[in-house]
Amino acid sequence: MIIKGEILSKSFKGNGYIVIKDGLIKSVGREKPKGSVDIDAEDKLVIPGLIDMHAHFREPGYEHRETIETGSKAAAHGGVTTVVLMPNTNPALDNLETIKYVKKRAEEIGLVDVLIAGAITKGRKGKELTNFKKLAEYVVGFSDDGTTPQSFKIFLEAAKLAKSVNKPILDHAEIEELSGGSMREGNFSRLYGISGIPDVAESIAVARDVEVARYTAAHIHIQHLSTKASVEIVREGKKRGIPVSAEVTHHHLIFKDEDLKDRSPFKKVNPPLPREEDQEELIKGLLDGTIEVIASDHAPYSLEEKSVDIEKAPFGISGIETLLSSLILISKRHEIPFEVLLEKVTCNPAKLLNLPLKGDIKPGYKADIVILDPDKEWRVTEKSLFSKGKNTPFLGKRLPGVVEMTLKEGKILYRGD
Ligand SMILES: [Zn+2]
Repeated sequence: MIIKGEILSKSFKGNGYIVIKDGLIKSVGREKPKGSVDIDAEDKLVIPGLIDMHAHFREPGYEHRETIETGSKAAAHGGVTTVVLMPNTNPALDNLETIKYVKKRAEEIGLVDVLIAGAITKGRKGKELTNFKKLAEYVVGFSDDGTTPQSFKIFLEAAKLAKSVNKPILDHAEIEELSGGSMREGNFSRLYGISGIPDVAESIAVARDVEVARYTAAHIHIQHLSTKASVEIVREGKKRGIPVSAEVTHHHLIFKDEDLKDRSPFKKVNPPLPREEDQEELIKGLLDGTIEVIASDHAPYSLEEKSVDIEKAPFGISGIETLLSSLILISKRHEIPFEVLLEKVTCNPAKLLNLPLKGDIKPGYKADIVILDPDKEWRVTEKSLFSKGKNTPFLGKRLPGVVEMTLKEGKILYRGD
């Protein structure tokens, strides 16, 4: 198979041809290879398939919100070819049986690559550690996402175990005693009369994580950073040579606390939407490399669950289908080159999670490829989303960047009309 188009990847930039054989990229070059072009993507961008290292597909346990099948279809529609699923299913992904079930289901569906973050503690209750040794072979890291062990002792022990099996801790940094509330505490929470979550609920946990990473030398990846203080703590930790990495979601780069004027439960997310100064620091962190990854934190809910007052609604935004379009929006709004943002959803997560042959368009790599028309727009509607979760603040809005085709290992997973 030969694809022609404007290639944008870490290893190759510009107009060229990609030759695919047996699911792998055979060659990439400017000269036309022998044979006819199968996919002519002239005037379109040809990019590596996205790696979304933070998503929730809800199965088993909450299939009314999403299933591995609907989540996989949503991913393919969003140009995502690899996802890392968080363990807050029911039962939790804290045991081999459930983890194997999810992996088997994903293989039967045969769309995107589904990778697993195994739970740190049994039932994600923060009390008893899971069997890291036994699970290590089947997971890319360990997380209690939705929460984190509140006990310093348990968390420290988890980091030591993670280090011993050579896997990262993917941490949802939050001190629950300090949390509670429905949006970021600040002038706008007071103005709107919505209960606030202070920024220290996150930054104290981030400081803990950095210190635990220093002491144990374990790689701790901090999920969904959302405050200025958190970015500064991670930046300082990196300067000191501590093995920490960090991610931000696309919605924390687009929406702010101010936007909660309408009290929309669709904008209720944990961590909460940032204040202006937080968002500015998140952007700085992206540019100076403090934050290596952008993820969706895809958190689908049924409309019934979300259609209640903001103080009662569950946290989360359905985001895997708006991730790539958001990168174009962020690139324009904050004047960041698109290719800088693209690295944060392709080669950077591949490197952090040690996923060989993914995240780049390069000979020998897997032919996970997306054809994107950056000039076209699409409307986010209940119908246009493949996910069961329609809970996105983009609902009804037009977004730039249409995924025309998603290929995984040379096989077409999704094709637009
Ligand atoms: Zn989380």
